[in-house]
Amino acid sequence: MNKIIIKTQEELDKWRKSIKSDINFVPTMGNLHEGHKELIKEAKNSSRNITLVSVFINPLQFDNKEDLKNYPKTINQDITVAFSTGADAIFIPSNDDIYPQNYKKCFHIKASKELSETLCGVKRVGHFDGVCTVVYRLISLIKPKNIYLGEKDWQQLLILKKMVEDMKLNVKIKSIPTQRDLDGIPFSSRNELLSASERNIVKLFSNELAEAQKKFTKTKELNLSRILEKLDLASVSVEYLEHLNPYNLKRAETTDNISYLAGAIKCGKTRLIDHVFLMKRNPIIAIDGPAGSGKSTVTKLIANKLNLLYLDTGAMYRALSWFLIKEKINYFQENKLKDILSNISIVFKTNSQSDQDVFINNFCVTKEIRSQEISSIVSEISSIKEIREFLVKEQRKIGESGGLVAEGRDIGTTVFPNAELKIFLTASIDERAKRRKSDLQNRGSNEIDLNELKELIRKRDNEDSSREISPLKQAEDAIEFITDGFSINEVVEKIIEIYNDRIPKEIQTN
Ligand code: AMP
Repeated sequence: MNKIIIKTQEELDKWRKSIKSDINFVPTMGNLHEGHKELIKEAKNSSRNITLVSVFINPLQFDNKEDLKNYPKTINQDITVAFSTGADAIFIPSNDDIYPQNYKKCFHIKASKELSETLCGVKRVGHFDGVCTVVYRLISLIKPKNIYLGEKDWQQLLILKKMVEDMKLNVKIKSIPTQRDLDGIPFSSRNELLSASERNIVKLFSNELAEAQKKFTKTKELNLSRILEKLDLASVSVEYLEHLNPYNLKRAETTDNISYLAGAIKCGKTRLIDHVFLMKRNPIIAIDGPAGSGKSTVTKLIANKLNLLYLDTGAMYRALSWFLIKEKINYFQENKLKDILSNISIVFKTNSQSDQDVFINNFCVTKEIRSQEISSIVSEISSIKEIREFLVKEQRKIGESGGLVAEGRDIGTTVFPNAELKIFLTASIDERAKRRKSDLQNRGSNEIDLNELKELIRKRDNEDSSREISPLKQAEDAIEFITDGFSINEVVEKIIEIYNDRIPKEIQTN
C-alpha cells in the first residue's frame, strides 16, 4: 500500500472511502520519539489493519500559552519517522479541520470529574477537557477500530477509557508501557526543552521513583514524606507526588494490591510527569463458575498465553483423594485427619512436554488422579471441612506472590477474594449438556440422552450452590461471561482482552 500524507478533512474522507481495512490509530502531538515509535509498532504489528498516525498540536489542551508556543514542532522529521516505523498514513490536520467553527466556540467534551480533578488536573485546569474534545473529534473523523495510547500518561489513559465507555464509542483503546531512555527518564517531546542540568534534575526524580518501586517490592512499604524530603534536598521542584489507587485515583488503601505513585515536577519552564506502579504481589486471575462451563480448558490456555502459573485446584483435591485412598485413611475421623494433613505437601512442576505435573509428598500423580475411582470420590472428599480449609490454605500459599490464573468453584469468593480479575464463567444448561454430549461421543460413548445430561447438570448446580462450605456463587466484583455461542478461543481472547485492559502493561512486563 502506498504511504500517504493527509492534510484536510476532505482528503481524509476520500482516503477513508478508498481503503478496505479497519484503522489502527495513533494520535500524537508530533516531535516523535521512541515512545511514539513503540506505539506505531504496536499498532502495526497487532493486526492487519491500516496504521494511521495523526500529528496535531491541540491548542485546547494547553493551559499555558507559552507552553503551546514552545512545544517542539518537527513535522518533516515526524513524517520520516512515522513512515519508517511502519505507519501507512499520516494525518496532519489544521486547526480549522479539527475545530471548524474556531475551537473556542466549538463543541466541548467534559472529562470525567472524578478522574480529572486530581493530579495534573489540579493545576492544568481544562486540560483533560481539551484532550477529550480532540480525541473525540479525531475518533469521529477517522472512525478507527483501535486507538493506541501510552501508559506514560496514565491519568489521560483512564480518562479517555472512561469517555469511550460513557459515550459508548465504537473503538477499543490499547496501551503500551512507558518507554524510557537509558538514564531512566520517560521519552517526552518536552525533554527537548531541557538544558543538561535540568535533565539531571528529571533524572533524579525518575530514579527516585524507580528506587521507591524497588524498595516497595521488597518491603511492601512506601515512605512518601521521606521521598519528598530527598527530592527537596536535591532541589527538585515537585508540583505533586501522590500514592493512589490506579483505577479511581483516590488515595491508595492498604488493601490495594496494585497502587500508583505519580508525580509532576517543574524544571525551569518545563513541566514533566512520571510514575511507577507498586505491587504487593503479581496479578491473579480467578475463574469461577459451574461444572461444565469449560473452566479448566480456558484457564490452561490463558496461563499459557499470558505466561502465568496455572493453579489447578481440582487436581489438588484429586491428589489428596488419591493419597487418602492409597494410605487407606478414614477421612471422616477428624482428629487424625488434621495431623495427616499437616504432613502433606502438594506441588506443581512443569514437565518436559510443558504440561504441569502434580506431586503429593513427592509422588507424581498426574495420571493416577484422572481415574474413575478418584472421580467418584473427589466430590465427597472435597466437602469435608478440614480438607477444604487445608487446601484453601495451600492454594493461598501458592498464590502468595501471584502471577497465576486459578480456577475452581470458590476461587474468586473464598481463595483469592482480592484477585485483580474475577471471571464467572458459565453457560446455559442446554449448552453445557450439548458440550458434555459431544465430549462423551468423542470418547466413544454413543448412547447418551441429552435430557438426562441436562437433569444431571441441573442437580449438580443445585448441590454446588446450596452446599454449606463455599457454595458456588458469583463474587460481587466478578464479570459474568455466558459462553453460549462462543468458541473456546473466543472466550480465551475475550478474557485476555479484559486482563490487558485492566492490568497496566508496565506490571505485566515485570
Ligand atoms: P503526545 O505526542 O505527547 O501527545 O503523546 C502521544 C501518545 O504517545 C500518547 O498516547 C502518550 O501517552 C504516548 N507517549 C508519549 N510518551 C511516551 C512514552 N515515553 N512511552 C509510552 N508512550 C508515550
